[in-house]
Amino acid sequence: MPPPVFRFAPSPNGYLHLGHAFSALLNADLARASGGQLLLRIEDIDRTRCRPEFEQAIYQDLSWLGIGWDGEVRRQSDHLELYRDAVTQLASMGLIYPAFETRAEIARLVADKEAASPWPRDPDGAPLYPGNGKQLSPAQRDELIAAGVPYALRLNMSAAIALAGELSWQELGKGPDGETGTIAARPQAWGDVIVARKETPTSYHLSVVIDDALQGVTEVVRGADLFWSTSVHRLLQHLLGLPAPVYRHHALLRDAEGRKLSKSTGSTGLRELRAAGVTPAEIRTLVGLAAPI
Ligand code: GLU
Repeated sequence: MPPPVFRFAPSPNGYLHLGHAFSALLNADLARASGGQLLLRIEDIDRTRCRPEFEQAIYQDLSWLGIGWDGEVRRQSDHLELYRDAVTQLASMGLIYPAFETRAEIARLVADKEAASPWPRDPDGAPLYPGNGKQLSPAQRDELIAAGVPYALRLNMSAAIALAGELSWQELGKGPDGETGTIAARPQAWGDVIVARKETPTSYHLSVVIDDALQGVTEVVRGADLFWSTSVHRLLQHLLGLPAPVYRHHALLRDAEGRKLSKSTGSTGLRELRAAGVTPAEIRTLVGLAAPI
């Protein structure tokens, strides 16, 4: 068997904190212990929130932690044409449609629906798409597009599932409720997800599956907050004919109050800890990886 390929895939929309350190160190340890590779990918498709100084800080913080990576860094914003091709492929399969509602319109539609009865929410707690993009006729779509109304492209989830059938993935770690082993994918829980946003020709879900495949990633090690996203990833992999890696979701580090760490959590920021004199070895202890695996 060829050696495994791991990746750490941060988004440069803030400074790294202890949670990122845990994920990056775990990936690096697993790669080393298995004689595998560790790749670094910068997930910067969100041009409004990503900034070059955060990307530079990622390199500095990883180097400080003693984490090196194999090969060139892959930056998603350099590969938008690849994602566009995948969108074209999904379009040719008749699986996507334009959705023209603004965020405010979506919020209003959800509020209207919830006034009558509870409206379903995705595993992240966000309401499913309530709009009527799927019902618009080709002529109506053409008219709105010609008028320059911005639109996102959404996956027709029921059509995609009908085509793909049942899917599963191999989980070496654990989901939020301890799920492990063979996990049945539940992409329907996400509704008609966005595959290309209004302002960029891709989405997190689409670019992550394309890059994992192109980079030959065999084991995805990431936080359990992304566990159920894997359902959508498996579906897109299947539709686009991409291989499926195995997954190892890890528990999220929490702050003293039990909250998930966020990029604005100063006291757990790697730069703040470094400035306060904390050493990389102490970071390992803080994240529970004192002895390299
Ligand atoms: N870019 C994502 C993040 O920073 C991680 C994506 C992944 O590991 O699949 O949360």
